[in-house]
Amino acid sequence: MIDQALRILKDVFGYDAFRGNQARIIERVASGGDALVLMPTGGGKSLCYQVPALLREGLTVVVSPLIALMEDQVATLEELGVPAAALNSTISPEAQRDIAYRLEQGEIRLLYLAPERLVQPRMLSFLQRLNKVALFAIDEAHCVSQWGHDFRPEYLQLGQLAELFPEVPRIALTATADMRTREEIVQRLYLQDAEQFLSSFDRPNIFYRIVPKEQPRKQLLAFLAQHRGDAGIVYCMSRKKVEEVADYLSSQGFPALPYHAGLSNELRAFNQKRFLNEEGLIMVATIAFGMGIDKPNVRFVAHLDLPKSLEAYYQETGRAGRDGLPSDAWMAYGLQDVLLLRQMMQSSEGDERHKRVERHKLEAMLALCEEIRCRRQVLLAYFDEELPEPCGHCDNCVDGVETWDATEPARQALSAIYRSGQRYGVGHLIDILLGRENDKIRSLGHQRLAVFGLGKARTEDEWRTLFRQLVARGLADVDLDGFGGLRLTEACRPLLRGEVRIELRRDAKPQRARGSSAGPSAASQLVRAEERQQWESLRALRRQLAEEHGVPPYVIFPDATLLEMLRGQPRTLQEMSRISGIGARKLERYGQAFLDVLNDAPTAPEPVADMRHEVVTLVRAGMTPAQIARQLSCSEKNVYSMLAEAIGKQQVSLEQALELPEDLLGEIQDAFLEEDGALPPAAALSGRFSGQVPEGVLYCVRAALMAELAE
Ligand code: ADP
Ligand code: ZN
Repeated sequence: MIDQALRILKDVFGYDAFRGNQARIIERVASGGDALVLMPTGGGKSLCYQVPALLREGLTVVVSPLIALMEDQVATLEELGVPAAALNSTISPEAQRDIAYRLEQGEIRLLYLAPERLVQPRMLSFLQRLNKVALFAIDEAHCVSQWGHDFRPEYLQLGQLAELFPEVPRIALTATADMRTREEIVQRLYLQDAEQFLSSFDRPNIFYRIVPKEQPRKQLLAFLAQHRGDAGIVYCMSRKKVEEVADYLSSQGFPALPYHAGLSNELRAFNQKRFLNEEGLIMVATIAFGMGIDKPNVRFVAHLDLPKSLEAYYQETGRAGRDGLPSDAWMAYGLQDVLLLRQMMQSSEGDERHKRVERHKLEAMLALCEEIRCRRQVLLAYFDEELPEPCGHCDNCVDGVETWDATEPARQALSAIYRSGQRYGVGHLIDILLGRENDKIRSLGHQRLAVFGLGKARTEDEWRTLFRQLVARGLADVDLDGFGGLRLTEACRPLLRGEVRIELRRDAKPQRARGSSAGPSAASQLVRAEERQQWESLRALRRQLAEEHGVPPYVIFPDATLLEMLRGQPRTLQEMSRISGIGARKLERYGQAFLDVLNDAPTAPEPVADMRHEVVTLVRAGMTPAQIARQLSCSEKNVYSMLAEAIGKQQVSLEQALELPEDLLGEIQDAFLEEDGALPPAAALSGRFSGQVPEGVLYCVRAALMAELAE
């Protein structure tokens, strides 16, 4: 049987081998057994029932909770040449009759249904009469759990399938792995005899990075600059912030759309549809955006605010990289996040027990942020999965983490809280530590505190980081009865009494280039600069075909397939057929068109205009010309001349572009202006300033002067 399954895998889906548990699951289900499949997002659940559907005689009924998902799946199957249909509320009565007719004729292999539709008595008796059901697949099976977030009462009624169709095997699938949900699925769907297939929940293609929040927007820009042209999600906590960030990104030349519960249904649906159908859009969203996002080529998920738990973090970041290609999970987190969430949690409704659980979840999330070990190991350990070795694919593994003995300064910080009466915010506490005699300090007499000025050896930023870490560790807390100042907790006593020491993570040095805190990422290497042109041509063809067929681009070919074409450079249809993701049907339909693109497009240099745009973005994000040159793999001189041009067009200011000491800048300007009449060319001055600044700096200064003089 497995030979046959492999043939279907190759001929229909165009893949060479099964992944993980797929083969075992397919064997079990195709031979008539029940199965419960727990597999992470992107693990390849669909094939677990689609291949058996083609191996078994008759109709496979797939229960799925979301209309958008069903339509996607049906479109994907039809593109593969597999007759499939979906019945849902958006379908006209005529179309429904047509589907019923085709079902009776045995023409349809997979039928997608919403659960409420399936359990209608009319539907059930129709299927019984049909007497051809080969398999039931229950997708998103965790929706049966009342404890989960996605509970759907209709799912409870799916239990009756066991009784009504005792001969028909059932497979339930979910990406939610916890014990309790698993037990509930078994119980409520009567899957006691189902074999359970539990996969690792690791998402190896996701690169995790968590950076301290300094200037979040700039940091975000620098991160996004590595993802030009990629689709991704930026999560924010509030609707207001979603709107602001979406506007900001648009103004910076990134195509961004807002998504939150405050938008009208139509607009939300519209934005979601665009996100799925177009390429390279960024969705800025609250967590209202999520379930039902099956877009496989989401290349990054960025968090500008802290999720409430590791469960939420795992789920939200997990929307990246379903297609298995390198993807990034990036988060900026700071003191305000911690304070805000702590505050929200303490003031939330609900009983004490519930709050305690929430608090624990937040602690775990905070601990991950301040973690010094491999992030993936810690994340998986939280879900009871052991990763024996550090992953080598997260910021901590790649950059290494420095720690330092923070016992002394931590005591000073705690003592500043205590001595000032446990009621002031971090700003004031830092003023005390740094010995700043401002009005507020004087009026409170805080200049007389023993800790006043004790912390001068550290910068304001360092103190801020320290306070964040103290709060994150639960040594200090927000005072809700007062004005939200900091107060001590029980947990800090041993430290204050000198019984324990404290070891903290050292934040990566906040260099001028916040670019560095965007860090190297997984996905930025997806397509190399010299490949970009052909990659874009392949994508353009895909987009055109997708429009003609009225489906999202990834339904024509997933990114992985395009990438393999790009790297493999097939010359003939036969070579094309060896590429993963190209089955017989797609080869016949699209093979030649893609071959044409591959064969006639010489790899030309990247259009300069794009590059200039990128330079502007990066410099606005705070990167230096040298760093930009590295990022774009071009010469520094080139970067300077593009910068000069941007300065001339007043797209960036001289201050943004360069970091020059004021007097040196003045000196250069004077040199240009020395002679009356036209400005001398930069080259004329390069001898004079050689050794002090690169010649490119002169281009920029000159361009700025020209622009000024022209006004
Ligand atoms: P899930 O439903 O578990 O999130 P999907 O079924 O959507 O995952 O599969 C994720 C991606 O992986 C899809 O693009 C799918 O085509 C691809 N895929 C699944 N199984 C294989 C395989 N055996 N070989 C190659 N690609 C696969
Ligand atoms: Zn790691």
